[in-house]
Amino acid sequence: MTVGFAYSPALDAYDLGPGHPFRPERVSLTAALLADYGVLGPGALAPLTFDPATPDALLRVHDEEYLRAVRAASHAPGSWPGGRGIGPGDTPAFAGMHEASAAIAGATCAALSRVLEGRHDRAFAPAGGLHHAHRERAAGFCVYNDVAIAIAAALERDPGLRVCYLDIDAHHGDGVQEAFYQEPRVLTISLHEDGRYLYPGTGSWRERGAGPGTGTVLNLPMPPYADDRCYLYAFEQAVAPAVRAFAPGILVTQNGADGHWSDPLTTLGLTIQGYEALYARITTLADETCGGRIVACGGGGYSWLTVVPRIWTLLAASLLEHDLPDELPDAWRQRVREVGGDPPTHLRHDPGPTLDDETRERVWHDTGLMLRQALAG
Ligand SMILES: [Zn+2]
Repeated sequence: MTVGFAYSPALDAYDLGPGHPFRPERVSLTAALLADYGVLGPGALAPLTFDPATPDALLRVHDEEYLRAVRAASHAPGSWPGGRGIGPGDTPAFAGMHEASAAIAGATCAALSRVLEGRHDRAFAPAGGLHHAHRERAAGFCVYNDVAIAIAAALERDPGLRVCYLDIDAHHGDGVQEAFYQEPRVLTISLHEDGRYLYPGTGSWRERGAGPGTGTVLNLPMPPYADDRCYLYAFEQAVAPAVRAFAPGILVTQNGADGHWSDPLTTLGLTIQGYEALYARITTLADETCGGRIVACGGGGYSWLTVVPRIWTLLAASLLEHDLPDELPDAWRQRVREVGGDPPTHLRHDPGPTLDDETRERVWHDTGLMLRQALAG
């Protein structure tokens, strides 16, 4: 199994400012943990070279006026008047915004093309997964929609390709869904906290695609507090059958770690072990449906110091099919202390959410109800 790793410290320049929850350390501490476990390098996660996405590549998903706006905000963030989703709030302007965003898009594009060319079996692009960016505006911490840009480029190179995009971020993958809403060659699946309770508000099971893309959108809005059992059940009941029926050539996954019960921005109930179990299901499903080909991106995740790097390390281990020892390397624990964190001793250590039995049963019941609606159409 050869797995490409599309990351360089230059991508940490995607920094929305001090105090913003979308910390670049989420990714750099993941890369550090992988290095400290000794799985970065030839024979394991192989560094993959990439260039920034070109304007032509960006324009497959975004419009020209939006690109001009991002460049202007990037060049002079202090005098940016606002608009196009860039400004105070979720997605503030910062110097070098265009370059950093184009670099992340380039990393995801390279990850996808290398796997499709057969140079790697799988790839991991941990800074990617900026799924909320829209055609004409930034949104939800996302400037350029790297995933949609990479998939659009792959479809242009190989018009016969079929792609399954699977998004397990706590938030609905609205930007990617929008880009391929009428596209029959892309199946977009999103499991997320129900939009009635969480940003961006979309992602109802009633959204199913349009025109020639009718039936190629599957949304599974999970009730607040949905836990490992609910997610694994939704995966077996709805995700796996949909992917098998679609028969994709490759799986592109967005792995936001903000469904973790400790995440400060969401209200879900996943544990680290739950993520590991989901990743195992995803790799098995890829083996069964598309020759094991997976390109995995990062995404959200705001328990950034100690939880997100551990979840994404387990994601990389699942791609490598490599079992990591549970004891965390001392070097990594020291790095976490240096940036003000209190590191746990074990990779999978997780006390889990504290939910009373009544809530747990209600959430389980509501998950079943949602699945029946989503599967019935
Ligand atoms: Zn998210």
